[in-house]
Parts: sequence; structure tokens; C-alpha cells
Amino acid sequence: MENGAAKPVIVAIDGPSGTGKSSTSKAVAAQLGLSYLDTGAQYRAITWWMVSNGIDIEDPTAIAAVAAKPEIISGTDPANPTISVDGTDVAGPIRTQEVTSKVSAVSAVPEVRARITELQRTLATSAEYGIVVEGRDIGTTVLPDADLKIFLTASAEARAARRSGELKGADVNATREALIKRDAADSSRKTSPLAKADDAVEVDTTALTLPQVIECVVTLVEEKRAAK
Ligand code: C5P
Repeated sequence: MENGAAKPVIVAIDGPSGTGKSSTSKAVAAQLGLSYLDTGAQYRAITWWMVSNGIDIEDPTAIAAVAAKPEIISGTDPANPTISVDGTDVAGPIRTQEVTSKVSAVSAVPEVRARITELQRTLATSAEYGIVVEGRDIGTTVLPDADLKIFLTASAEARAARRSGELKGADVNATREALIKRDAADSSRKTSPLAKADDAVEVDTTALTLPQVIECVVTLVEEKRAAK
């Protein structure tokens, strides 16, 4: 069982928002001694930079022209994941409503995706013990050779309830509408949309507690490690 522990293992966890992706990915990485990368935070960071620099979010050409400018650095310790843009810690500012409502438009621009995908591949291949990478297109596009691909799903109701819980009392109906809108934009964009890879294991988290989802994914990773 333990003889595969030294080989890096790459785990891709994809799915729409509110499925427990971040909490699961962080906990699985911490439990198994792996690095952790929140790719949504990278797209939020570049969106924050665009907004802060007055770039017109409705104009893909304007976004593409400056996509290479911001320096985005992700810290991959699951106990303390960090994100900075040009040396500024943006962990707080990237979670505002404004960034959340604009991130799908920015992340749909191919030049943005190419830039961020390159950062993701560099981090994933340099993780000494392996990494859990969470996002929307990790299994399909960023790391198609990942050792294990998980696709998390949950009903729209469950996802909205979880998100409004996180947002401390936000209106569930408004949260549900916003989630559905963002998922529709992320799933219908031309460049690497939110999608389940053919070889991904789908886990419906609607009726599961977070510890149950974590245990399920940890077991799947351990099986892969043992077989490596
Ligand atoms: O996971 P999170 O909700 O923070 O992601 C924010 C946004 O970043 C998503 O709605 C999507 O537009 C974009 N994203 C993406 N590809 C990824 C991860 C996130 O396009 N791999």
C-alpha cells in the first residue's frame, strides 16, 4: 500500500460552484500530504486586476491585449493557500460580488485561459509529492493525463443553500439564480468549458456530508497511488 507513496500523484477535481470542490480538494490534499491549487482563485485574481485597471470587461479584445501583464502567484500549501497579483495579497478582494459577477466573462477569453493554463501546468508538474487541482477544465484540458479525475455535482438547490450559508445569510433564491447563470456561462463558452472528462469519476454530493465526500475521494486517491 505504502510503496507508491513517493510517486507524485496528480488529482483533478472539477465541477460547478457549490458542490464542495474547494473544501474537498483542500482537505484531501492536507490529509494525503499533497499540494493544492485553486484555479478559480487564479481566474478571480486576473479578473480583479482587469477591474482595478479599468479594463472594459465587455470587450474581449481589450482583455486579451493585457492578459499577459499581471503576475499571479499561487501558494499551494492546503493549510494556507495564498494568491497574489503583482505582489499584492488579493485573497479577500477576489471574493467580492463584483469579481464573482465578472469572472465568467474574463475567463472565457482564450488569451486569459492560455496564460492561466500555463501557470497551472507548471505548478502541477513541479509539486514534489503530487497535487490536487480544482477547477472546471482540469481533467479535460489542463491536465488530461491526471492520475485521477473527479467530477463533483449537486442539485442547484443544494449548491445554492451551501453558497448562501458561506455568504452568511445571503438570499438563497438570488444565490441560486447567480450560480445557474455563472454555470451556464462557464459551460457554454467556446474555449475549454466546464465539462466532465470521459474518464472522470462522477460523485453526486447532494445527499452527502462534506466528511463523506472527503472520505470517498481520499479512498479513490489511495487506490490510484497503490496501483502506480
Ligand atoms: O471556483 P470559483 O467559483 O472560484 O471559480 C470562479 C470562476 O473562474 C468560474 O466561474 C469560472 O468562470 C472560472 N474558472 C474557469 N476555469 C477553471 C476554474 C475557474 O474558467 N478551471
